[in-house]
Amino acid sequence: MKFNELNIIDPILKAIDEAGYTKPTEIQSQSIPIVLTGSDIIGCAQTGTGKTASFAIPILQNLTNKPKHSKGIRTLILTPTRELAVQINDNFALYSKYLPIKHLAIFGGVNQKPQVSTIKNGVDVLIATPGRLLDLISQGFIKLNQIEILVLDEADRMLDMGFVNDIKKVLKLVPAKRQTLFFSATMPKQIRKFAHGILNNPKEVNV
Ligand code: AMP
Repeated sequence: MKFNELNIIDPILKAIDEAGYTKPTEIQSQSIPIVLTGSDIIGCAQTGTGKTASFAIPILQNLTNKPKHSKGIRTLILTPTRELAVQINDNFALYSKYLPIKHLAIFGGVNQKPQVSTIKNGVDVLIATPGRLLDLISQGFIKLNQIEILVLDEADRMLDMGFVNDIKKVLKLVPAKRQTLFFSATMPKQIRKFAHGILNNPKEVNV
């Protein structure tokens, strides 16, 4: 399988090509077509499998293909750590090189001012750790009422780290009508149950 067999739009294909990636990984060839249809997905995949691009690429394409209604944040990606937030943001930078899509990673432990000023200038894709996200929401700097796509990345790790209540708070603030992508390295019963409470008719992928 090649990337150009996945119906990916030219500006993204060009960026993939320039990154030197010649073929999609297993999780990418399985997930990209599902996410492009707008379906919810539950994906069991470890870091290192190419998981990040498996959601970043089709999200960028879905946002590009759908006209923007307002200036609000359109995609929220929740991830457990600062390191993962930065890596995901780097992936968005890579694949959006030829698209007018703005993305930002926010996380705790650093001054919030630069994050807030970037948000004020408009962000399409926000990648966030739960604590800093809720903090900026409570200060009125972030609204989630325009979210079209929600991603829970490394869900098992977020639950292990005690973010369950934070995630529940976020879920109350995002529109019910949305596309939701749920990724976890492990899929024990309680994670699966949690996922199915959030997702709507998800397709499942396992690598
Ligand atoms: P991830 O699982 O998203 O953390 O990605 C693991 C590593 O694989 C990262 O360093 C990516 O740059 C790299 N990668 C992602 N997709 C591909 C691909 N299709 N071909 C080769 N390397 C890739």
